[in-house]
Amino acid sequence: MKVLKNARLIDGTGDAPVANAAIVIDGNKIKAISAKTESDFPADAEIVNCAGMTVLPGLIDCHDHMANHRYDLAHRWGIDEPESARHLRTAAVLRQTLEAGYTLIRDAGGLDAGFKRAIDEGLTVGPRLLISISIISPIGGIGDRMAPSGDCCCVPGDPLLPSGVAETLTDVRPVVRRMVRAGADVIKCATTGGASSRPGHGPRDSAFNLDEMQALVDEAHALDRRVMCHALGGRGLDIAIEAGVDSIEHGCYLDEDPRHLELMAKRGIVFVPTLLVYEYHRKSPQPHVRERAQHLFEHHIVAIKKALAAGVKVVAGTDAGGHGHPANAGELRCLVDAGMTPMQAIQAGTSWAAACCGKEAELGTVEKGKLADLVVVNGDPLADIAVLGDANNIALVMKDGQVAANRMK
Ligand SMILES: [Zn+2]
Repeated sequence: MKVLKNARLIDGTGDAPVANAAIVIDGNKIKAISAKTESDFPADAEIVNCAGMTVLPGLIDCHDHMANHRYDLAHRWGIDEPESARHLRTAAVLRQTLEAGYTLIRDAGGLDAGFKRAIDEGLTVGPRLLISISIISPIGGIGDRMAPSGDCCCVPGDPLLPSGVAETLTDVRPVVRRMVRAGADVIKCATTGGASSRPGHGPRDSAFNLDEMQALVDEAHALDRRVMCHALGGRGLDIAIEAGVDSIEHGCYLDEDPRHLELMAKRGIVFVPTLLVYEYHRKSPQPHVRERAQHLFEHHIVAIKKALAAGVKVVAGTDAGGHGHPANAGELRCLVDAGMTPMQAIQAGTSWAAACCGKEAELGTVEKGKLADLVVVNGDPLADIAVLGDANNIALVMKDGQVAANRMK
């Protein structure tokens, strides 16, 4: 039994913090939250004094690319270094991310099932993972690997990551099944271009028609997989919402058509804005990327405000990977800058994020019976959300009842 005592507890539900709480952990679960003193616990209990610190649920990033490390083409095509070096780089990032307080990551493409297995078997350490394998798009979409000229790439693909290109309507269902066969927990697709996609396929340029997206969503749901859809604006955003995806990723132009947020609220479609990546894109060396990112910025902030007002859940995702792996909690700071309260930003990175991942029954809050994924931070994130972004402040990380990082000594 472990007890975290004298803690300020922010339990992730949105309730006000509790002073001097004791969190009792038995095995991999939270057994109780109490205000008992040390003498009340069994003699063999491991007591951790958290005076002056805050305990939160383990943090969750709903949109990351753990196996991507840069945006340049050679890296995206996997020809810049041996696969072994890249895998070890990815393993290092998985460890750092866990040690920074992130106990669940939903990977939005690029991470193969072997990493999840290696963590489960104890070969390496990292957060719990929900993986999507490859991004599904039609020809010319963001899942279609090609040179900026439009030429197809002759570099062979990674067999661990089946191609996500659905060439016709009849291809859509088999591609979804292939992802599931390769280990996908969630289906990632794209109905528009993005800030960093090739010239000619920008944020309002669509990919997939409604029939194709309905087939994709139907097949994914038949296989009990949620659909996370990269969609920024225009007709592609319309089609994604109409087809009934489970989350809109990026959603920069959701401020433009009030029907979009209305329908999302009605259907429980979650909004994952991924603000952190656009800070990077606004400074991109590529003019077309910089211009797109600057244009969408104000829309994105308004979209978040309107989403909250419309009752759409807004959750944290960094889209880390191409822009390196900065502290994932930088996204919580971005959400506060965009108008969320610090408490809402914490919910966006804990309980709301867990619900987006379908894990709300076991993760996302510090409550009796939940799995013991916890983070202990120096300072008060309600006073300054940025404390979560500095790993030096992350005193203790617990995953499944086991200490994953300890900077208390
Ligand atoms: Zn992404």
